[in-house]
Amino acid sequence: MELRILHHRPLTLSGRMLFMAQHQPFKRYHCLKPPSNIKILGHRCLWKQSRGGRRYVSQPSGIRIQCADGANEDSHKASNKELMDARVIYSVATAMGHNQESHPESHLRVPAIVDALEKMELTSKFRGSEILELQNAKPASLDDIISVHAKAYVTGLEKAMEKASEKGIIYIEGSGPTYATHTTFQESLAAAGTGIALVDSVVNASKISKDPPTGFALIRPPGHHAIPKGPMGFCVFGNVAIAARYAQRVHGLKRVFIIDFDVHHGNGTNDAFYDDPDIFFLSTHQDGSYPGTGKIHEIGTGNGEGSTLNLPLPGGSGDLSTRTVFDEVIVPCAQRFKPEIILVSAGYDGHVLDPLANLQFTTGTYYALASNIRQLAKELCGGRCVFFLEGGYNLKSLSYSVADSFRAFLGEPSVASEFDNPSILYEEPLAKVKQAIDTVKSIHSM
Ligand SMILES: [Zn+2]
Repeated sequence: MELRILHHRPLTLSGRMLFMAQHQPFKRYHCLKPPSNIKILGHRCLWKQSRGGRRYVSQPSGIRIQCADGANEDSHKASNKELMDARVIYSVATAMGHNQESHPESHLRVPAIVDALEKMELTSKFRGSEILELQNAKPASLDDIISVHAKAYVTGLEKAMEKASEKGIIYIEGSGPTYATHTTFQESLAAAGTGIALVDSVVNASKISKDPPTGFALIRPPGHHAIPKGPMGFCVFGNVAIAARYAQRVHGLKRVFIIDFDVHHGNGTNDAFYDDPDIFFLSTHQDGSYPGTGKIHEIGTGNGEGSTLNLPLPGGSGDLSTRTVFDEVIVPCAQRFKPEIILVSAGYDGHVLDPLANLQFTTGTYYALASNIRQLAKELCGGRCVFFLEGGYNLKSLSYSVADSFRAFLGEPSVASEFDNPSILYEEPLAKVKQAIDTVKSIHSM
């Protein structure tokens, strides 16, 4: 994709309506305040890598966002003892400067999750060594990014930052709608680098423990729509795809299994590995939703034929559908592939309260997915598993679903019943789901 920038174009009504229409009816959008350790003193901000580490600093407009807990010069590297003790290892890249007012992919998303983790006492402050936060991960390198993306796109985006600096915000034509601010390039490198750092930690932990911690990259911008030649659908760099290539290149883990349970098809990841037999991409998504790809007959090509599995689910699919898909499709597929690591595009926009789609996942559904995927990784690949945040636009359902996923990683019972309201659910289209499962099993000879 040629990088064409439209300066200063607001998200037009027609563009917004097109996107929302593709994402199903717009539902109520809840807002949370950012967590107490992040001070927001204005709207525009600058992410800066300095000798002192990452921090949010002032722009000439006098607007400032700063992490209150400071930063060290070097990336934090977990010690062997920390890795042995931890059951969850997570890292945060909030991308506070990459934001457009009223855009669903908001700078409040990751802070809302951090806030929920605090409220539910799921941080090391409350849990000691079993929950480990990896801080100050290094940004991804150019080599990391171009393992998935065209170099011309990456350099073009970097150059576009000057324009964004002048204009405040820019739009990238044909990307659905994806905006960029003058911090987008650096913050997207930070997001990808955070995922990579978690891969390092989890792989290192698996060398000293049979039950390594599960990783969770609380990052944005999301990545699974970004195609090799450019950004798309709120996504800038393919974080999970970049991490998959990194796991192969740096850790020698040849066979990577990617599960994408975001409500939208992960077309960028799909495209990056469509002819690659060593990276299995399995996506469940709502049939007919953005971007319209991921049909059930799209299974890969050439040597990669059969190593892509797309399972579109009918609108209204929920907890029971997901559990059946896990048992009948995901487990046998992963068992047959024999992965050396499992990476997860963890999108929370399939939640019944999410404004951009029309599935009926609940907090409990996400707990079950997290628990089952962790167990699958333990059985198949030494427990090596890292989750990457993708979508999820209702801040409450997003944050509590991620928090309950942490409880799943800890092996503790779900507290989803505190958040889920069964009375808003309607009957799932189970006959259609079964038909889709039968079809995909037939296509993939399962
Ligand atoms: Zn999504």
